[in-house]
Amino acid sequence: MPVKKLGKRFDVLMAEVRAEFAKGRIIEAPLISNRKNEVLHGFCSRKQDLVFIDPSGHVVETLMHELLHRRFPEWTERKVRRTAADLRDAMSDAERMALYRDYKKAATKWRKPIKFEEEE
Ligand SMILES: [Zn+2]
Repeated sequence: MPVKKLGKRFDVLMAEVRAEFAKGRIIEAPLISNRKNEVLHGFCSRKQDLVFIDPSGHVVETLMHELLHRRFPEWTERKVRRTAADLRDAMSDAERMALYRDYKKAATKWRKPIKFEEEE
């Protein structure tokens, strides 16, 4: 079970994700990848200190993924991806829906599509 996999870390990691979420600076906008035929669900811009989320993707997992990037800039892509997936699997339906509702309230919506740019 995914819950067992994270164990006590679930509460610790969710608190980190919540703390990062509380900082705001979350943008919902159509996202355009810089690669052909790649669906971009989200990205974290360190330069702008913004998290971007595409509304058509897997919002909750993407949100936690990008918040983990902003919270733990030293983590590898692999670690961020695994942790976000583990958190998603360990969350109850109620927790997932609650985070989605909070996100819908907190996210600033931009109509203009945002093109992903590699930073550094
Ligand atoms: Zn990532």
